[in-house]
Amino acid sequence: MSVEDKEKELSVYESMAARYDVAARKLGIDEGLSNYLRTPNREIIVHIPVSMDDGTLRVFDGYRVQHSIARGPCKGGLRYSLDVSLDEIRGLAAEMTWKCAVVNIPFGGAKGGIVCDPSKLSVGELERITRRYTAEILDYIGPDRDVPAPDMNTNEQTMAWIMDTYSMHMRHTVTGSVTGKPLDLGGSLGRREATGRGCMITADEALKRFRWQRESTRVIVQGFGNVGSQAARLMYEAGYKIIGVGDISGGIFSTSGINIPHLLEYVEKHKTIQGYGGGDSIGTQEILEQDCDLLLPAATESVITSKNAHKIKAKLLVEGANSPTTPPADDILFDRGVFVVPDILANAGGVTVSYFEWVQDRQGYFWTEGLVNERLKHSMVSAFDGVVAYSQRHNVNNRIAAYMLAIDRVAFCIKLRGIYA
Ligand code: NAD
Repeated sequence: MSVEDKEKELSVYESMAARYDVAARKLGIDEGLSNYLRTPNREIIVHIPVSMDDGTLRVFDGYRVQHSIARGPCKGGLRYSLDVSLDEIRGLAAEMTWKCAVVNIPFGGAKGGIVCDPSKLSVGELERITRRYTAEILDYIGPDRDVPAPDMNTNEQTMAWIMDTYSMHMRHTVTGSVTGKPLDLGGSLGRREATGRGCMITADEALKRFRWQRESTRVIVQGFGNVGSQAARLMYEAGYKIIGVGDISGGIFSTSGINIPHLLEYVEKHKTIQGYGGGDSIGTQEILEQDCDLLLPAATESVITSKNAHKIKAKLLVEGANSPTTPPADDILFDRGVFVVPDILANAGGVTVSYFEWVQDRQGYFWTEGLVNERLKHSMVSAFDGVVAYSQRHNVNNRIAAYMLAIDRVAFCIKLRGIYA
C-alpha cells in the first residue's frame, strides 16, 4: 500500500466520505444535494491563549465543526488529544449527523477538539483551556444551536465548566447548553452508562438473530474507558463471558473469563489495567485477533484496517468506538461473513440519552433511571431493526444500510425545508 493510500485508509473524513458516497449513490440522491449533504455547514478554528501554572503563556489550537442543522440543533462531543486534527473532527461531525438520524433524534451533527495532552496539564490549566475555548465559540453554541458533550479525555467536569462559562455570558443558568453533565447540574440518570448499555442492547439484538445465548458468547473489549468499561460491566452482569480486555497500556486475556468487577476495582486504584493478575498479558492490538465470538472495539479509530481484518476471528463486531474500522477492512469483514453493528448504530446510546438529558433540562423535570433505560432500549431496538431492514431491502452491509437510513432521513428534511437563498 502506498503512503498516500495508507493515509487515506486511516483518515476519518475519507472513511466517512467513502461510505457516504456508496450510500448516497444507492439511494439515487442527485449530485447537488449529495454534495450539500456531505459538506459541513461550518468549521470553526480557534487559537486559545492560556496562562500556564509556571507563568508562561501558551496557545492551543481548537476546532468545532458543525455538519448539519437540517433536523435540529447540532450535537456532538468535545475531545482533548494531541492527535486531534480538523480532518478527524470534520469526519466525526458528519458521523454525528448520521448517528442522530439513525436513532431518529432531532439533532444534526457536530464535533469539537482541542490539540493538547491532558495527562500533562493541571486541573487549573484544563479549566482555563476549556473556558477560553467556550468563550471563543460562544456565538455558535447553546441549547438551540449546538450542544457539546464529553468524548475522549473530557468528562462531566469539563461539561460543568462549559455550562458555567456559557451561563455567565448569558447572565442566567443554561443547563441545556451541554449534556453529559454532573447529575446535580441537570445531568441525566443513566447517561454515564448509556453508550455501553446501547452497545449491549444492539449485541443482544444480534444474538437473537444468531440464536446465541449470552452465557456462551465469548467477548473481547478493546478500551476500558467510559464506553468499554461500562459495556464490559453491563455485559458481565447480564451473563456474557468476557475473555479479553485491553487499554492503551496493553491487554489481558483469559479463556476462563475475566472478573470485571474485580478489574474495575483494580483500574479505579491503578488507573490502568496493566499489572492486573486475572489473566495472561497480551498486546493491545493483538487482543483484537484472539479467538472470540463478539469483538467490541471501544478505544479509538482505525484499529481494524486492511492489515489485520483477515485475522479477526469474531463473527460479530459491535463498534463501541467511533470509526474503529476502515473502509478496506469493511470489505474484508463483509467477505468473511462478519456481522457488523456499525458505530453510528452501536454507540448511539450516548447521544440518545444526551437527547433525553437535553429534554429533561428544558422540561425542568427529571426522569427515573428505569424510564431512561426503557426509552433507550426502545430507541436502540427500533434503530437496529431499521438498519437490518435497509440492509435486507437494498442488499448492502449493515454499515452502508445505516448510512442509507440516515441520509434518507436528513435528505427528506432538507427537501421539506428547501434551500434558503
Ligand atoms: P475514554 O477516554 O474514556 O477511554 C478510552 C479507552 O481506550 C481507554 O481505556 C484508553 O486506555 C483506551 N485506548 C486509547 N487509545 C488506545 C489504543 N490505541 N489502543 C488501545 N486502547 C486505547 O473514551 P470513551 O469515552 O470511552 O470513548 C471511546 C471511544 O468511544 C471513542 O472512539 C469515542 O469517540 C467513542 N464514543 C464515546 C461515547 C461516550 O459516551 N463516551 C459515545 C459514542 C462514541
